[in-house]
Amino acid sequence: MSQKSFARSLGIRHLVCGSCNGCELEMNALAAPQYDISQEGWNIVASPRHADLLTVTGPMSEAMRLAARRTLDATAEPVVVVAVGDCASGEGTWCGAGSAGAGAGQELQASVVVRGCPPSPDAIREGLRAAATLLDGRNS
Ligand code: SF4
Repeated sequence: MSQKSFARSLGIRHLVCGSCNGCELEMNALAAPQYDISQEGWNIVASPRHADLLTVTGPMSEAMRLAARRTLDATAEPVVVVAVGDCASGEGTWCGAGSAGAGAGQELQASVVVRGCPPSPDAIREGLRAAATLLDGRNS
C-alpha cells in the first residue's frame, strides 16, 4: 500500500500564542483567492486530531503555554511544528518582554522557521512546503 503524500494533503492547525495578529493577517491571506492553499490540498483544521502540522505565532504567552503543549500532545505522529514569524522564532520584538516567553516555536521545538515580521504569504507557503517534505520523510 502506498504511503500518504503530505505535499498534496495537509491538515494545518494554527495556534496563536501571544501574537500581535500581524502574522495571522498573512496566514489568512493563504486561504483567500490570491493564494488559496485549498487548491494544493491544504486545509486549516479546527482540531489537532485532524492536523498533520501545527503553525504557531507569537512569543508564547503565559496563558497559552499549557494549551499549546496539550495541542501538540493531541496531534498524531508524525507531526511538524512550523514557527511563523520572528516572535515565534524567538527573535521578535516581544520575546522575553513581561510574561512573554522565548518564542512559541522555540518552546515547541519547531522544525521549520519562517522569519519575518510578519512573513509574507509566499514565505509562509514555502515553509509549509518544507514541512510537508519533512512529514513525507518521517512517514516513509
Ligand atoms: S513577528 Fe511581528 S507580526 Fe508576527 S506576531 Fe511578532 S510582532 Fe506581530
